[in-house]
Amino acid sequence: MTNTVAQAIEQAIAALQSATRIVAFSGAGISTDAGIPDFRSRGGLWEDDRLMELMSARGFRHDPAGFYQASLQLMPNLHRAQPTAAHQLLARLETQGKLTAVITQNIDGLHQAAGSRAVYEIHGSFRTGHCLDCRASYQMAAFYEQIERGEIRLPRCARCNAPIKPDVVLFGDLLPFAVWEGAVNAVEQCDLLLVLGSSLVVYPAAELPNLALKHGARLVIVNREPTDYDRLAHVVTPGELGDFGRLALTKL
Ligand code: NAD
Ligand code: ZN
Repeated sequence: MTNTVAQAIEQAIAALQSATRIVAFSGAGISTDAGIPDFRSRGGLWEDDRLMELMSARGFRHDPAGFYQASLQLMPNLHRAQPTAAHQLLARLETQGKLTAVITQNIDGLHQAAGSRAVYEIHGSFRTGHCLDCRASYQMAAFYEQIERGEIRLPRCARCNAPIKPDVVLFGDLLPFAVWEGAVNAVEQCDLLLVLGSSLVVYPAAELPNLALKHGARLVIVNREPTDYDRLAHVVTPGELGDFGRLALTKL
């Protein structure tokens, strides 16, 4: 860790100490330390062209078994990963009554696994799924393990045998409106928006920093790469989320 990064982490921690209504916004970067690759880093999932097609709503309709195969190859730890220090920090801030909500683009369920309760998953979750026909809902982890062991290719509904789809928002799907509305409300009322591990380029989620600033909140960004919002942020911490999370847990 360089001196500049260490100083920026201290500034971010100081900003968190003086805030009373923090909202966190997390992207794939908060889970890379848990072994789940992100999309846009070098070597991230986005470098695989097949992904965009397979992970789309159309891709799922055409080849649902291929969708599961690709998802589990590309994110093999998704259902096994454990929360990182940064996930734990957010859960602790909520328990202390300082953090009102976590908004996440992630589909890995790690915020809830860390103990966060007020979580807005704007891209849904891979942990649960539902039958495309009768809408029965399912916990997905056991299906993922069966696919990995080669026992099934496609999770099917126990009641009607129709394919089960994970509750994720795919390219071409609409955002879940109530979740999005809840996220917007939380941001409008926060006094500090803490962005963790997001390149802030996926809309409409990338609008949230603007919304926070418009309502007078401070913006703190922790991301190893620069973002378009850095010039508007009160603190930018350009280092590793692992360092930030571990240090912040000792002080907050
Ligand atoms: P992104 O891939 O666009 O950006 C991740 C950012 O995190 C990058 O700027 C990268 O530099 C930074 N980063 C990665 N590891 C870091 C670390 N250890 N410390 C500090 N910074 C780090 O992610 P996004 O903006 O969240 O968008 C990707 C989309 O893909 C999301 O919509 C999400 O639904 C989906 N996705 C989710 C998961 C997951 O659930 N864990 C994983 C991959 C993709
Ligand atoms: Zn069914």
